[in-house]
Amino acid sequence: MSDQPDPPTSSAESTVPGRIVAVLGRGVVPATEPILRADDLGALRGDGIFETVHIRGGRPWMLREHLDRMSRSAARLELALPSPDALTDLVTTALAEWPPAVEGALRLVCTRGPETGGDVTVYATVTAIASTVLGSRRNGITVATASLGFAADARQRAPWLLGGAKTVSYAVNMASQRWAMAQGADDVLWVSADGYALEGPTSTLVWLTGSTLCTVPAEATGILAGTTARWLFDHATDVGFDTDERLTTPGALADADGVWFTSSVRGVVEIRAIDGVKMRNATDTERLRSLLGYGA
Ligand code: PLP
Repeated sequence: MSDQPDPPTSSAESTVPGRIVAVLGRGVVPATEPILRADDLGALRGDGIFETVHIRGGRPWMLREHLDRMSRSAARLELALPSPDALTDLVTTALAEWPPAVEGALRLVCTRGPETGGDVTVYATVTAIASTVLGSRRNGITVATASLGFAADARQRAPWLLGGAKTVSYAVNMASQRWAMAQGADDVLWVSADGYALEGPTSTLVWLTGSTLCTVPAEATGILAGTTARWLFDHATDVGFDTDERLTTPGALADADGVWFTSSVRGVVEIRAIDGVKMRNATDTERLRSLLGYGA
């Protein structure tokens, strides 16, 4: 399912703002102004990294955690990411005009820059959360499983596969979601060649077994370590859950007491069915959502 923002409405009464774009070293620029050179390796090779940060009350949620993950992604790609202070200033600049009442998503992007050498290209965009995302929070989603083609532990031994890095090379992620939609599902659950459930193309898999909230171990499998799931797991014991990281299979998830995708944009959305098999009704969705501080 698409996390793309809705197009801004032109109605004078509309409260949905258009896209804000801010470029490092330049400040806010018109949203339609071109900011990448034709030979930027981000565009030519998908060679760059990004983060998507939830904007609530006009402020970035968990910015430090996102900047930490961005530095880890930069290290994996040997990319000269500007300092956290410079990136924080860019985020502040981008958010200066954002209406605090509007829930948003901020993308922070760093590409390798011109093919002939030179500085990285760094910019931020802010958009309102798409209505499809708000709908999925209320209604849940269905997913289709799709193989990533390698074993769950393959990326640990293959650093060139960039496991755990949030790169701008999301063509496979988007193709997976289009494929799922063509099957009549809302999203994809990626599965390893040896049959383990891994993650969604833009989300972390979380499930409940009894009172234990579980997710997939990121280091061992090369999935992206989700900031939302991390926050949930760090606070889950406050509301009576135990937590664990373990492997599971799509078939075993049918016996779980709740299955969700979590991400910065969606918050937490209930997975209602996997490959047409209905999941048990999750009774804890609202508890998790309010723990994370997302609206319904
Ligand atoms: N996994 C992948 C592949 C993602 O792209 C994302 C989010 O973009 C996530 C998991 C969830 O991460 P987070 O909770 O930090 O948004």
